[in-house]
Amino acid sequence: MTTAYVLPPAPTPSLPVVGTPARFAVRRIYCVGRNYAEHAREMGASGREAPFFFLKPADALLPVEGSAPTHLPYPSLTQELHHEVELVVAIGLGGRDIAVDEALRHVWGYAVGLDMTRRDLQAEMKKQGRPWCIGKGFDASAPIAALTPAAQAGDLAQAHIRLQVNGQERQHGEIAHMIWNVAETIAALSRAWTLQPGDLILTGTPAGVGPVQPGDGISAQIDGLTPLQLVVD
Ligand code: MN
Repeated sequence: MTTAYVLPPAPTPSLPVVGTPARFAVRRIYCVGRNYAEHAREMGASGREAPFFFLKPADALLPVEGSAPTHLPYPSLTQELHHEVELVVAIGLGGRDIAVDEALRHVWGYAVGLDMTRRDLQAEMKKQGRPWCIGKGFDASAPIAALTPAAQAGDLAQAHIRLQVNGQERQHGEIAHMIWNVAETIAALSRAWTLQPGDLILTGTPAGVGPVQPGDGISAQIDGLTPLQLVVD
């Protein structure tokens, strides 16, 4: 017998996939903090801290469809909406306590994504020792482009990651410069939560984060993956 609900269930957040009309259903969105040394320094950290994690709600996903720019609504309550371009890892095979040398078997695909941040609110929460949710987990805070299956994504260890605002470069890093690489990140995350198919991991941003304003165009690229284009308004 099918379950009856008093209200209709919410729609399943999902991403487009390169080469197929079928979509990738999203379960959770995990994020890694301070995973590139220069960005960690610009946020006030030093040294190789253990990776730390936060989450965005799955329905904070803003799927970026096709090549026309997607509309990114400027969120409420902030005067300082920041871009953070990140490599997104999509989990296809779940698990817990995953070993580093097994971790890449759990990856279904990769995408270009943004960890949009209400920096002023995040800074206030940090100062007060309160949760980051209001700075990180707001509606449409996770714009992500089409997923590329892992086998088609090429060697991301050699890839550059870039972001431009109105055509001007703001962020440019190399995936190889992550403090904790994709396999190490999956291993660490799977010790804290049981990973499941449909989980996304935003793996941290290189240096150069900064504000965007209504009317700005944002473009982001990682070599070998579908680029992302947004208009803020
Ligand atoms: Mn981030």
